[in-house]
Amino acid sequence: MQHQNKFDSLAHWLCRLGITAGYARLRGRRLTTLCYHGISPRYNRSDELIVANQILLDSFRRRLTWIATHMRFVTLDMVLGAIERGHRLPRRPVLLTFDDGLLNNIEFALPAMREHNVRPVFFIPTEPLDHPSGLLWYERLGFIVGWAPGQVLNVPSAFGKGLPISTPAQRESSNEVAFDMISRLTRTHREEVLLELNGLNKPATPQEETHSLFYKHMTWEQLKGISGEWVDVGGHTETHAALSRMSDEESTREVRENMQRLFATLGVKPAAFAYPFGSRDFFGEREENIVREAGYRIAFSSLSPHKSADARFAMPRRNVYKVSFDFSRPFSPECSIGRWLGPENNGAWPTLRRFLARVSRIGCTGCSPRTERH
Ligand SMILES: [Zn+2]
Repeated sequence: MQHQNKFDSLAHWLCRLGITAGYARLRGRRLTTLCYHGISPRYNRSDELIVANQILLDSFRRRLTWIATHMRFVTLDMVLGAIERGHRLPRRPVLLTFDDGLLNNIEFALPAMREHNVRPVFFIPTEPLDHPSGLLWYERLGFIVGWAPGQVLNVPSAFGKGLPISTPAQRESSNEVAFDMISRLTRTHREEVLLELNGLNKPATPQEETHSLFYKHMTWEQLKGISGEWVDVGGHTETHAALSRMSDEESTREVRENMQRLFATLGVKPAAFAYPFGSRDFFGEREENIVREAGYRIAFSSLSPHKSADARFAMPRRNVYKVSFDFSRPFSPECSIGRWLGPENNGAWPTLRRFLARVSRIGCTGCSPRTERH
């Protein structure tokens, strides 16, 4: 398996400038792993703040076509073959991964991927599949802090006094404070606190359509229907836990129970794991050991590939977000910045987009298919 090379930083910057054909060329045989969450055919502008990790289906389809033309889709088996047996990956290898087990992965992303014979990895937190209509715990918290009425977020007395929510910036920082407190609790305690917070603040709830498009999880039956044949299934803890904040016992339980339930239900021992939240704030040596000892063969993070070498239990990935309102983390493997800003922009920045689209064609080697030797 090829590790970091001297062109990685250059490749990263070419990519951010939209010259992604240059990116593909410079990667050589180094694996690019993309991390998606949701794919949806539409969203309402009023939902923007809460669907930041959703990619529109049209845009996703174009990205797939681009990758199929310029790079090579690989499977988890091929990556394991490279790591464990020294097999060579094809040039410009790309592995697609989807976190969190959202229903829209099956409804929209999978049919698009099947057209290109892509075999992705779905990383599944198991407890949400028991209640597919529910939100993940930190999403529930996000809604409470984001949508609570008034100027102050009421918190249970054990957590001190209320948190300010007069402005969007205050809501954001209060959400971080609340997240930090709640992520350290045991599973049961966390549930109790969330229920209490909800009762104290009575936030609005997402519209039905938004909820089912973006937040609904797949059921166990649905996962069984695709596992093995169309996707590889990996672990993502029982409850999407912030592992590094928990006790040894609790974090081990989150990893092991998740794996055991996937194994028992699907009949296949999962080989790969993805750390929830994925940054170094949420996993370290202790978590890597827990995952290795649970029997996983590889683990993926959200560490940036141009800053981190490929390490078997901390494989870097590129997060693919809706980029409209987050220019600091743009990435999508497409040929021009115009398309890269894409329909997710929904009309924002049209002039800038047209200008950048024109400029970025300089240096782009074009989208026509090329034959290639491996
Ligand atoms: Zn996740």
